[in-house]
Amino acid sequence: MTTFNAFLLFAQAAVYFTVMMGLLRARKVIGVGVFMCALGVMHFLETYLASVFYIELPFGIISPGSTVLFSGKLLMILLLYIREDALVVRQAIYGLLIGNFLIVALVMILRNHETIVITEGRLPDIAFIDEIGSLMVWGTLLLFVDAIAIIVLYERIGDWFGRHLGLRFLVCGAAVLTFDQAGFFLALHYVSGAPWHVFFGGLVAKLVATVVYTALFIAYLKYFDDEAAWLTNRSFKDVFQVLTYRERYHQLLEATTRDHLTGTLHRRQYDHNAPKILEKSLSESKPLSLLVIDIDHFKAVNDRHGHQAGDQVLAKIARMLSENLRSDDHLYRFGGEEFVLICEKLPAEAAMSLASRLRKAIERFSAIYFPEKITVSIGVATAPEDGTVLETLFQAADMRLYEAKRAGRNRVCGPAVQE
Ligand code: GH3
Ligand code: MG
Ligand code: MG
Repeated sequence: MTTFNAFLLFAQAAVYFTVMMGLLRARKVIGVGVFMCALGVMHFLETYLASVFYIELPFGIISPGSTVLFSGKLLMILLLYIREDALVVRQAIYGLLIGNFLIVALVMILRNHETIVITEGRLPDIAFIDEIGSLMVWGTLLLFVDAIAIIVLYERIGDWFGRHLGLRFLVCGAAVLTFDQAGFFLALHYVSGAPWHVFFGGLVAKLVATVVYTALFIAYLKYFDDEAAWLTNRSFKDVFQVLTYRERYHQLLEATTRDHLTGTLHRRQYDHNAPKILEKSLSESKPLSLLVIDIDHFKAVNDRHGHQAGDQVLAKIARMLSENLRSDDHLYRFGGEEFVLICEKLPAEAAMSLASRLRKAIERFSAIYFPEKITVSIGVATAPEDGTVLETLFQAADMRLYEAKRAGRNRVCGPAVQE
C-alpha cells in the first residue's frame, strides 16, 4: 500500500510539473498571468490537504498538499525568477500573499451567517473553516518568507556552485523546505495537534520531492528547453547555464565597462576608478605605479596593412598585456593605441622591471604573431614620489613616454632610470 502511495505521489508531481512547466514555457505566447493564476489556485487545496489529508509512506506519514503542491510551488517560484526577473516573481509572491489574506478575511465575515440546511445532514463545518483559516494565515506568511529566502539563497550560493544548476537547485530547495517544514509543523502541532513523527515524515517527503523536481527540471532542460539559447546566444552544451536576472545584469555591467575591441577597461572607468585607487593606496601608505604604454609607429602599421589588421594587432597586444597582470593591476585603453596600467602596491623599481618585461614580451611575440615587428614605448611614474594626484602622476609618466619615443622608441623611461 505504501508503495502504491509513493507511486501516486510521483504521478501527482509529474502531472503538476508537466502542466506548470508547460505554462511557464508558453508564457511568451499566452502571457505569464496564466502560470501565476494556476500557481495561485493551488494554495487552497494545499492548505486543505495539509490540514486533513494524510497518507502513509515507507518512512512516515505525509500530506500530498505539502509534499507535492507546496514544494512544487516554491520551486516554480524559483524557476519563474530564473526565467524572468525579480520584478515578475514579485507579482506572484505578492499576489499569493494578498489573495490568501483576502480569503481569510472573507471567511471571517462569512462564518457569521445563519446558514440554511438544504440537504439533510450537510452542514458547513465552521470549526474546520476556522482551522484552515489559521493554517492559511501561517502558511501564507511562511510562503512569503520561503519565496524570498529561496531566491536570495539561489543568488548567494551561485558563486560556490557556479554552473552546477542541479546542485544549486537542490541545495536551495532542501534548505528552504526544511525551514518551512519546521515552521508549518509548529502551526499544525498547535492547531490540529499533529504528532511529532509527522514532522520527520514530512521533512523526508519534502526532501525527496526536491530531488524529484530537480530531476524533472534537469530532464526538462536537457530534452525540451530551447530558452537557454534565447537568454543569450549560447550553444547546446551550455544549456545548464541558466543565468538569473542579477547575473545577467552583472554580465551586462561588465561588458559596458570594457572596451569592445581590446577587452580592457574603458577610459571612462579610468576617470571614475583610478583616482579612488590612488587615494586608497596613499591612505594605506602603499606605493602605486602608473604606466603609459603606446605602440610605436602604429600609424605606419595601419597604412601598410590596413585598419582592420591594425585592430587585430591592437587586440593582441592588449591580450599580451592582460596576460602578464596581477589581480592588483588595472589595464585601461586610454586612447586609440595607448594603454594605461595602474599597479597597486608596486614600488618604482618593481614597476620598471614590469615595464621592461612587458616591452620585451611584446617585442618577442610580435615577431611570431604579426607581419612585422611591433614594439611599444612605456613611461613609468610612481606615487607618492612623482605625485599624489592622478593628473600629476599621469603627466610624469606621459613625459617619460615622450622621452622614450625621442630616445628611439621600443624602450622604457622611468624615475631617474632609463632602460
Ligand atoms: P608613435 O606613437 O611611435 O609616435 O607613432 P604612432 O604612429 O603610433 O603615432 P600616434 O600614437 O600619434 O598614432 C596613433 C595612431 O593609431 C593613429 C591611428 O591611425 C591609430 N589608431 C588609433 N586607434 C586605432 C584603432 O582603434 N584601430 C586602429 N587600427 N588604429 C588605431
Ligand atoms: Mg603610437
Ligand atoms: Mg598614441
